Amino acid sequence: MNIYNICVLKILFFLSLSQANVIKQESDTCQQILGDELIREISSYGNVRDEIFRYVLEGEFKGKTYDELAKFVDKFGARPSGTEVLENSIDYMIELTRAEDINDIVTEELEVPHWTRGEERVTMLQPRVKNLSVLGLGRSVSTPPEGITAEVVIVTDFAELENSREEDIKGKIVIFDPVYTTYGETSVYRSQSATRASAKGAVASLVRSIAPFSIDSPHTGSQSYGQNVTQIPTAAITLEDADLIRRIINRGEKVILKIEMSSSYDTKISRNTIVDLKGRENPDSLVIVSGHIDSWDVGQGAMDDGGGLFVSWAAPVILKRLNLQPRRTVRSIFWTAEEFGLIGAYAYEEKHRDENHNINFIMESDEGTFAPLGLAVAGNQEARCIIAEILKLFESINATTLVEDDSPGSDIAVITRTGIPGASLHNDNERYFWFHHTAGDTMNVEDERELDLGSAFWTTVAYIIADISVDIPR
Ligand SMILES: [Zn+2]
Repeated sequence: MNIYNICVLKILFFLSLSQANVIKQESDTCQQILGDELIREISSYGNVRDEIFRYVLEGEFKGKTYDELAKFVDKFGARPSGTEVLENSIDYMIELTRAEDINDIVTEELEVPHWTRGEERVTMLQPRVKNLSVLGLGRSVSTPPEGITAEVVIVTDFAELENSREEDIKGKIVIFDPVYTTYGETSVYRSQSATRASAKGAVASLVRSIAPFSIDSPHTGSQSYGQNVTQIPTAAITLEDADLIRRIINRGEKVILKIEMSSSYDTKISRNTIVDLKGRENPDSLVIVSGHIDSWDVGQGAMDDGGGLFVSWAAPVILKRLNLQPRRTVRSIFWTAEEFGLIGAYAYEEKHRDENHNINFIMESDEGTFAPLGLAVAGNQEARCIIAEILKLFESINATTLVEDDSPGSDIAVITRTGIPGASLHNDNERYFWFHHTAGDTMNVEDERELDLGSAFWTTVAYIIADISVDIPR
């Protein structure tokens, strides 16, 4: 208890009162499911929690997650799938881990997309000349060298496109201008807009950046072309430009854009990296922590997913340094090529399908490493009750929230959907999608204290799940 700030504790206690009813009702059911003995066992990990938190927040590891992340990000910058810089950054992480005297490290090769952005320019020619800030979307084809000049049709959603007459879309540039609700719901307008617009005869598609906030910042991201459609160039525009064009068109004026884009696309070999801190009793049973090492070509990939990579790197390192060896193995995975569609995770799932029964629990941090709030958990009720009980140990940092989520994380969804329980880091990430997939994803988004809290939380949760007497049930 000595490591926690009492004032903060009091404030957090009052803040949490409003949620008390919801938590209580659930915990009554969980108490019956778990039984007193298991509940006592889980609460006995308070000592280990204190040891880890003291070491990370006040001891030798204080500030280390931030420092190591900054060194990494400053050295390599963006790490797009298929590039040499990504491979060099993987080698660097292996060396960094070996330097901690952790030597159970393997890499697994797989084929990954290698899409390279060239020149990109979108100019409004009518009703006035204006350059738009744009970013081509992953796998977008090039325009012809002379570009594509066409009138704009703007639609809010797919239904509006489908209800349009073919002759109103044919030969036009379609702008998708969806209302941002959540990333999960809205990002479909990025991933499918080119295919949908092309099917109606459009010559190019642009999409309002998938973000709730903008300072004229376009957000890139992946998209893929459906089969049997002409592959048309596709890019993200800013919220500001989407609103501008919408206003002009609503006034009955015609908007004409010229799009010039170039890119190249082939495949390369990359690697997933697997770091094991072997369990003392049941080394075949795995508790996995993970983040992805690749990033988009814009920005520095500090937030997406440098933070997740480094809190997951930190977990076995902190346990090793503290000589804490749990019953089961703590495995840290640095996924490759997440951004082009979870390519590394699919390859891992396929390669290890026959041993999937060994995965006791799988975790991922890929939605920011701001202050931890708890976990978003996939699993049956008993599994969720165990995790909820473990989260009670983090009341003093206000990280007790269990969000029920049938598909948490990004990469690990490939594995949890086969019925394996897992969780992603639930954190105070309200600003995450401001920076996501933009030039603004830099170290300035990261906070030293929050990264320490993230590493301490992530490590403690992984340790407890890897060490308790019961497996997480499926
Ligand atoms: Zn990511």
